[in-house]
Amino acid sequence: MIVEMDRGASEEQIQAVVSRAESYHFGVQLNRGTDKVVVAILGGDTSRVSTEVFAVLPGVASVTRIMRPYKLASREFHSRPSLVDVGGVVVGGERLVMIAGPCAVESREQLEQTADYVLSAGARIVRGGAYKPRTSPFSFQGLGDEGLDLLAELRSTRRVPVTSEIMDAYQLDAMVDAVDLLQVGARNMQNFTLLRAVGQSGKPCLLKRGLAATVTEWLQAADYLLASGGQVIMCERGIRTFEDSTRFTLDLSSVAVIKQNSHLPVIVDPSHAAGHHRLVPSLARAAVAAGADGLIVEVHPDPQNALSDSLQSLDFPSFGHLMQELDAIAKVLGRSF
Ligand code: PEP
Ligand code: MN
Repeated sequence: MIVEMDRGASEEQIQAVVSRAESYHFGVQLNRGTDKVVVAILGGDTSRVSTEVFAVLPGVASVTRIMRPYKLASREFHSRPSLVDVGGVVVGGERLVMIAGPCAVESREQLEQTADYVLSAGARIVRGGAYKPRTSPFSFQGLGDEGLDLLAELRSTRRVPVTSEIMDAYQLDAMVDAVDLLQVGARNMQNFTLLRAVGQSGKPCLLKRGLAATVTEWLQAADYLLASGGQVIMCERGIRTFEDSTRFTLDLSSVAVIKQNSHLPVIVDPSHAAGHHRLVPSLARAAVAAGADGLIVEVHPDPQNALSDSLQSLDFPSFGHLMQELDAIAKVLGRSF
């Protein structure tokens, strides 16, 4: 339920709403906007209480029952688009953000070469997996702590924000010191204990869409992060369908749906959706046209010898060319990279 206070409602009136919610053992989150306060009443069972319970209190302008099962991520709760600061790079504004880098950190040389190239071509955040969620336990699992150290080193020598995937809450302390944006992967989208831990960490989260998650479930996962005090960037990366000519089916409708129903920024990962480097540019161009706030793209200095996701990684010239095309599309929409 969303309780919208009157413009100029007193602190006492706001606290009366909070106390009443607490008397029903509901959670509460306050959103103090520039000219009015909105109180979100949280709990899976708010339907047991009538909206009148809050509507009768002085200073309450309206009470809306949220039909959608997500609250904090909704536009009703926060009408203006949220901006997320990633180590000084703002995601969600007019300027689009390109995040690029290797699927996995393989060596200092590989990471530095890739970062230097993608940054020179217009990327503003570098990606690189240290702990990799591989389908088979016999595949390359990432360099682990060593990979994280290499990312932290790059971040300080290049003064660039970096992102990497967190697979388990035990990695949190080390990752908070090393990266600017914690990526929660598709396979962990509904790992609720991890989401809570990431939400409490003070670092923003890049929340990938689960392979078989609806947009609503994905926004509910975002609510876990927001309810724990986190900031969220949504990332569409393709879903499992009957179609097998691409690795996953890139559901670009979700970009429009999120823009309509949520205040959260949304970016697109064309690499994992496509599964093939030849398809990546087309999906990337479409994502910008659909209104995404940015992209995350896998790039490797020598894709043929990459230790993970080699087929979908772009080489340097392809990435450079793609950035030029994306720039042109962004301009048509009144945006830029
Ligand atoms: C990745 O970004 O390398 C990755 C594993 O992504 P996803 O969780 O979307 O599969
Ligand atoms: Mn990958």
